[in-house]
Amino acid sequence: MAHQARKRFGQNFLVDEGIIDSIVRGIAPQRGDTVIEIGPGLSALTKPLLQSLDHLTAVEIDRDLAARLRRQYPEERLTVVEGDALQVDFGMLGTRLRIVGNLPYNISSPLLFHLIGYADHVVDQHFMLQREVIDRMVAAPGSGDYGRLSVMLQSRYSMSKLFDVPPEAFDPPPRVVSAVVRMAPLPESRLRPQSQNAFEKLVVRAFTQRRKMLRRSLNDWSELIDWEGLGILPTSRAEELSVEQFIALSDSLLAAGA
Ligand code: SAM
Repeated sequence: MAHQARKRFGQNFLVDEGIIDSIVRGIAPQRGDTVIEIGPGLSALTKPLLQSLDHLTAVEIDRDLAARLRRQYPEERLTVVEGDALQVDFGMLGTRLRIVGNLPYNISSPLLFHLIGYADHVVDQHFMLQREVIDRMVAAPGSGDYGRLSVMLQSRYSMSKLFDVPPEAFDPPPRVVSAVVRMAPLPESRLRPQSQNAFEKLVVRAFTQRRKMLRRSLNDWSELIDWEGLGILPTSRAEELSVEQFIALSDSLLAAGA
């Protein structure tokens, strides 16, 4: 039976064979890979992925679509986890995960933040997202797109935008242009914040008033900051700080007991 796309689940199904092929080639699945697909929907990506894989795990919130997938594929090829990807403990799904998905755009930022917690279990992630979100993810300091999403994700992943995808590639077509991004967790040897919580708190705080000078937006911590030692001007703005400077600032605030 034909499936009626559900808006509340961000359902826009990929129908362009050329785009599907480019995404799968970008992922380059290998037989023994542990691939987790978020939001398989009508299996536009699931089907070609399974041609190169022994097994795939798919997380789908829509009960009807989950049942349909279970009918289509035997369990030894496809494990369907029916539920909300935001609630899934990805750490339970393996240690060298390749996570992929044409993501529901209404939950893309919370999902990206949720996945940061599992980056140690991940080899790479390939996602289709709203192009504007990917532009923010990969933005450099000083650009208008540089913000909380850029700093939080760049502190943990190297990322590259692969290509754009026009609305006509979907049924129904979304109102925005999409794009595909590849994300690979940075090696452990790279500088990391000592406390992810403290880091997030600082980044949120700094960008809540992104146009303000840091000595004002971080007003009540200002006394604890050795601006000169960190090489940061108290008159600079959040959007001018590099990811490394945010990490150094967060670690120094933690050491100072903020
Ligand atoms: N992968 C399919 C494709 O490319 O045609 C479907 C993509 S559609 C944009 C998003 C899919 O994610 C839908 O199947 C939707 O039901 C599912 N979905 C929405 N919210 C979800 C959530 N919180 N957890 C898991 N899946 C979700």
